[in-house]
Amino acid sequence: MRSTKTILVVAALALQAGAYASPLEDAIASDYPYLDGLFKHLHLNPELSLQEFKTSDRMAEEMSALGFEVTRNIGKTGLVGLMRNGRGPTLMIRADMDGLPVQEKSGLDYSSKATQVNLEGMEMPVMHACGHDMHMTTLIGVARRMVELKDEWSGTLMLVAQPAEEAGGGALGMVADDIYGQVGRPDFALALHVIAKYPAGKIAFSDGLMYSSADSVKITVRGVATHGASPQLGRDPVYIGSLIVVALQGIVTREVSPIEPALITVGAFRGGSAPNVIADNARLDITVRANTEKTRYQLLDSIKRVAENTARAAGVPDDLLPIVEVLSEGAPTTTNDAALARRVREAMLGGMGADAFVDWRQTDMGAEDFPDLVNVDPPIPSVYFEVGGTPPEDLEAGTWAGHHSPLFKIVPEPAIRKGVEAMTLSALELLKKP
Ligand SMILES: [Zn+2]
Ligand SMILES: [Zn+2]
Repeated sequence: MRSTKTILVVAALALQAGAYASPLEDAIASDYPYLDGLFKHLHLNPELSLQEFKTSDRMAEEMSALGFEVTRNIGKTGLVGLMRNGRGPTLMIRADMDGLPVQEKSGLDYSSKATQVNLEGMEMPVMHACGHDMHMTTLIGVARRMVELKDEWSGTLMLVAQPAEEAGGGALGMVADDIYGQVGRPDFALALHVIAKYPAGKIAFSDGLMYSSADSVKITVRGVATHGASPQLGRDPVYIGSLIVVALQGIVTREVSPIEPALITVGAFRGGSAPNVIADNARLDITVRANTEKTRYQLLDSIKRVAENTARAAGVPDDLLPIVEVLSEGAPTTTNDAALARRVREAMLGGMGADAFVDWRQTDMGAEDFPDLVNVDPPIPSVYFEVGGTPPEDLEAGTWAGHHSPLFKIVPEPAIRKGVEAMTLSALELLKKP
């Protein structure tokens, strides 16, 4: 009796001290120096959307070295690595590869100094300011574990390195290139994002909505040019554009239910060239976000109505009404499959315990293009989860920067280790032997 008690006490103390580690946790810890090197390499060498050439090379090398059969140039720089390991379902795990045109000011000793000429021919600074370097590192970390644990699962593991999540269109590009015709269609799909607002290494996800939809709308306001001192002879597109900027907010506050999230942000407004010239056009670039497809299309329809009628009210003739274009890179909402989310959560809970999680909450209307990979016909059930990236003390002190900021930084070790663990546990569950 007594000795059992002692063992229990020792075990409890060990648990309290965090000394207990599962064999999987141990394996990931021993592999971490390799993953840290990969993470820092990727962080130092970010590339812009659809120009992830060296990144794509590196991902292909990593996958080939592990014995994955690699298919490249799907959706330009995208690639897929396949490991067939006997009978069973196919699980797709996706990571995005692109950085952002941001000048890094994080102060990290492995800060990016990279520049790249963008698709418009302008040289831009480039930074992994959203954490996609963590996603790629985690993907490879999971691949390394799944190869080691090959005897413990059966089926096909499909790794996807996707271009252009930030610029939009990367996932659609892979689908347009017939990714599933080329390499086969998965039975389920997983993806993750490191998230600065949660404590480093903590997992968060819901059984339903994860991210809002996002659409880009361009409005070209057309006016009638004239001298700045004779406005009565023309129609001023800068003035009319300003009225439209304000009127658009009325859609959100007066047309959509106050308890339904909706967002219209005019991110760019360009027009005119000199103080004394009334121009003949102005341009608004807008992002539109919603949590349901119904609200999404309500907003898009209303923007057109409000833009046209605001111009009409300002005396613009019918043949010069604003041109409202919904650009094609729109992403639908990211929504987890409820049953699959519960299954994945159980697997993570079993291996990592309840302490591994924090409550998921939507605090903004961020979006993802991952749904474009899975909202095919028929849809592929999927789960998208988040992994915290900021030390708890920084969260408490408020000294942390959000995604896309030049100051963005994550602590890679807990985030990558826990990301690999959560994803590997999920993969082992979904590909478990019958
Ligand atoms: Zn981002
Ligand atoms: Zn991102």
